[in-house]
Amino acid sequence: MALIVQKYGGSSVADAEKIKNVARRIAATKDKGNEVVVVVSAMGDSTDNLLKLAYQMTSHPADRELDLLLSTGEVVSSTLLAMALEEMGYEAISLTGGQAGIKTNAAYSQARIERIDPERVVSELDKGNIVIVAGFQGITEGMDITTLGRGGSDTTAVALAASLAADACQIYTDVEGVYTADPRLVPEARKVDEIGYEEMLELATYGAKVMHPRAVELGELFHIPILVASSFNDNPGTLIHGGGSMELRNKVRGIAHDLDVAKITVVGVPDHPGIAAAIFEPLAKANVSIDTIEQNASINNITDLTFTVAKSQLDKAMAVVKPIAKSIGATECVSDSHLGKVSIIGTGMQNTPGFAARLFSTLSEKGINIQLISTSEIRITCIIGEDKVEDAVRALHRAFELEEE
Ligand code: ADP
Ligand code: ASP
Ligand code: MG
Repeated sequence: MALIVQKYGGSSVADAEKIKNVARRIAATKDKGNEVVVVVSAMGDSTDNLLKLAYQMTSHPADRELDLLLSTGEVVSSTLLAMALEEMGYEAISLTGGQAGIKTNAAYSQARIERIDPERVVSELDKGNIVIVAGFQGITEGMDITTLGRGGSDTTAVALAASLAADACQIYTDVEGVYTADPRLVPEARKVDEIGYEEMLELATYGAKVMHPRAVELGELFHIPILVASSFNDNPGTLIHGGGSMELRNKVRGIAHDLDVAKITVVGVPDHPGIAAAIFEPLAKANVSIDTIEQNASINNITDLTFTVAKSQLDKAMAVVKPIAKSIGATECVSDSHLGKVSIIGTGMQNTPGFAARLFSTLSEKGINIQLISTSEIRITCIIGEDKVEDAVRALHRAFELEEE
């Protein structure tokens, strides 16, 4: 008997009919003699709708209240799914993240799983139940409910698969797997049959929201192959795994894009040791994640320092940086929130010249201005105007011939 962890995303459980469809798929897995643990996301746009409601109450909802509110979306879908299974004659029980033993730190809205105590899940499986766990949430030592960051139900699934030593971890969603670019943006994007953790992590981190980055990290850490496939058909999907890729080297593997980019420039900064620390340490303390950082060559010991943050963190970051800019004698502090980023990713790019040149010339042919560039060994990212991102993704997909195997 195999133990299978399946996760169904928000669009797969968006209404009553879809929940029944998911219940039929779970029943079929159970009928094959498997033990099944299911993780669900909130129905359709319900997390967004709960967020909107919170902001109708106050422009600064308390972190704790917001997390408890958002966690209810997954409670709704998990209980309904358990009812649908019972109605079909299957024994099922729904559990909140806390009841399933998912213990997190207290970093509300981006909590990290510290450990899982799986006894309750195991005892329910032993009773013959299908166990439905509300995704995206956990509980602190102090018994407060936390959430794991947008898209975090993927992480719940992989973490549970690790702690239960499951035989398979399957992420079911509204596309047939991982594509060479977001198939909503690029109709000719190609589904890949398999992809390594490293490439998948860069894709996810740089905007391919088909997988939550933390889920990929956990998969790699605990050596869990993750299948991403459609919840609407039985096509084979994509296997995310640790083995060497069988596909072509010297190729870009995929293109990621992200519209959630804002830029802050501290202008006229005196260039001496300690200045970067004076700016970035307080930002870290305020829990602001910084992405790309660029410092211009200084002229007469004066330089400009530019960095990017998520749009949702811009106000917080500006509130931290403005007084510091003043105290270190910078001229001013300006921001731009109409930005996005586009990245080309592939282990095949390592130590191979020419990729950056082709990326830059493709964007220049489209008249797209590059504002910032960042790289890793297997990725090149350009920050560009947000209205240019779609165009850039399509042009790069063609330029790097990603529609071809
Ligand atoms: P779920 O609700 O099932 O978690 P998400 O909306 O979080 O689903 O993720 C699936 C979506 O990710 C797809 O509908 C697709 O538009 C988007 N996406 C972005 N990049 C990619 C990619 N490279 N491959 C597949 N899907 C992608
Ligand atoms: N419902 C949460 C979200 O919309 C978590 C998830 O879908 O994975 O972000
Ligand atoms: Mg998702």
